Amino acid sequence: MAEHQLICGIEIHQQLDTKKLFCSCATELVEEPGLELHRRLRPTQSELGEVDRAALAQAERRMRFRYLAPHRVSCLVEADEEPPHDADPQAIETTLTFSALLGAKVVDEVHFMRKIVIDGSNTTGFQRTALVAVDGALEIDGKRISIQSICLEEDAARKMEAKGQEVTYKLDRLGIPLIEVATGPDMHTPEEVKEVAARLGSLLRATKRVKRGLGTIREDLNISIPGGARVEVKGVQELRMLPEYVQREVDRQRSLLEVQGMLHSKKVAPIQADIVDLTARLRESKSKVVAGALSKGGKVLGVALPGFEGVMRSPDGRLRLGAEMAQRAKMRAGVMGIFHSDELPGYGIAPEEVVDVRGALAIDGEGAFAICADEAGKAEAALKTAVDRANLALEGVPEETRDPLPDGSTTYSRPLPGASRMYPETDVKPITITERRMEEVRSRLPEMPEQKVERFVTKYGIHEQQARQIVREGYEDLFEEVATKCDLAAVAARTLLSTLPEIQKEGADLAKLDDATLLQAFAALHDGRFAKEALPQVLKRMCEGRNVDEAIKDLGLQRMDSGEAEAVVAIIVKEREAFVREKGMGAVGPLMSPVMERLRGKVEGKMASELLKKEITRLLESSG
Ligand SMILES: [Zn+2]
Repeated sequence: MAEHQLICGIEIHQQLDTKKLFCSCATELVEEPGLELHRRLRPTQSELGEVDRAALAQAERRMRFRYLAPHRVSCLVEADEEPPHDADPQAIETTLTFSALLGAKVVDEVHFMRKIVIDGSNTTGFQRTALVAVDGALEIDGKRISIQSICLEEDAARKMEAKGQEVTYKLDRLGIPLIEVATGPDMHTPEEVKEVAARLGSLLRATKRVKRGLGTIREDLNISIPGGARVEVKGVQELRMLPEYVQREVDRQRSLLEVQGMLHSKKVAPIQADIVDLTARLRESKSKVVAGALSKGGKVLGVALPGFEGVMRSPDGRLRLGAEMAQRAKMRAGVMGIFHSDELPGYGIAPEEVVDVRGALAIDGEGAFAICADEAGKAEAALKTAVDRANLALEGVPEETRDPLPDGSTTYSRPLPGASRMYPETDVKPITITERRMEEVRSRLPEMPEQKVERFVTKYGIHEQQARQIVREGYEDLFEEVATKCDLAAVAARTLLSTLPEIQKEGADLAKLDDATLLQAFAALHDGRFAKEALPQVLKRMCEGRNVDEAIKDLGLQRMDSGEAEAVVAIIVKEREAFVREKGMGAVGPLMSPVMERLRGKVEGKMASELLKKEITRLLESSG
């Protein structure tokens, strides 16, 4: 068997466009805050009597939770004041359809379970989830990707704010049905991960009952490399970023293995957290972080890290154990960060202060250390966490959950959840799925993505490659609407597949362009309110938050009739009469650019060129 440099599986969570899973509330995110409730959660024991380690890590932080409960999108069920109702039949039906699309084996009885969640994102302290199907498959470029499980579960509350020990959630998102589909660890390149996610996304959309837009689909990546460990990157929202997260995690694990190798070759032993008070030594420091902490009555504490010099941050920036330690310290102890010796002097800490700190920590020569300036208790917890993380580096890559950051990197979030998180939900009746019901589901499966591609090619005359990409990127419904209502299939295909990525590269925020907004732009184009050359400009304006009317007005795009356009062209030609007489018809090319400068978006390019030729001919035929 070929040796793989990367092993990756994905889990996709897709919100369904139905009612909520256990009540009849609307599944919409709203602006209004609604009523306010408060809760404090504690880790409960699972049936096996173990306390989940991820739950414990959260509870150690002693959080308080505040919930905003807007009416219409939340009721007593979300507030955990009333038992859940029967599971939404449409949500069940959609999950069965999706399972059939993947050829998965549906269970005889759907049982909801409670999965302990203690970060406050569920008012109950657990998430309800049910296994619906197992053992499906996808085929991509002749390769089989296994589908391990398909579950139906409830989405968590929406995190609005975290201030100190208090986190605020809104209940509008809590209880929205989610299909959770998990693949086997069958992907071996970053691009393959993206392909599989795209295919699953188009199959989910094929059910016609999924929500669209940012935040309605979230991907978790399970990544490991040989000699590394399983790391979960949780909650990626943008498909195009998937390869980047995968590649960066591979690089991170490789660099941690390199750190381990260096520590082993130096025979570095696990270290003790002998924490030393450095407050007196750094009292006059110019460092803003230090001065800030001391002004609030805090302390500066330090710890020696013998043997860790050079791996905290290597000169080329590749080895970054210091960053790993700082991320854990921030998350676990709630400090702003730690400083480590490979980045000092710096951050306002002077060279002589570094020498002084090394002396106080009894470090010879260039030995490594970390310091933290904060409330004494927090700073101490932070350095203990940092030392624990340093010691883990001797064992290689730790298993953990990481949060994706917008730049494609990730940061430590929490330990991987343990296995003892589930127990039965006794308030929801099990649902029997008969073979007959599945026959019915299979008899009216929706159009598969491949069939849609073929239909787009024959019906709307676009290239197969374009059709494939439209379906892959999730533009199929919008495309079809523009193609039928506005009769602009070719323009729509080009705009969605080329123009949008181009204007995004130029800095436009495409999040402002949902399907409805894009449809307005196409409708205005169809109504002849501007020429198709102006569409990129119009869309760019709309990315800045302008509606289509405002965009047209901003850009001065009121369309010209041919008479007006002809007058503009005549002036341009007349102004360059000598040039035109010299070049003859050869002047058409050079004059197109001043003409288009005046007419872009107001008449079609083809018409402008015809008018220009006509005007030049007229001038040349007249006696000069
Ligand atoms: Zn409700």
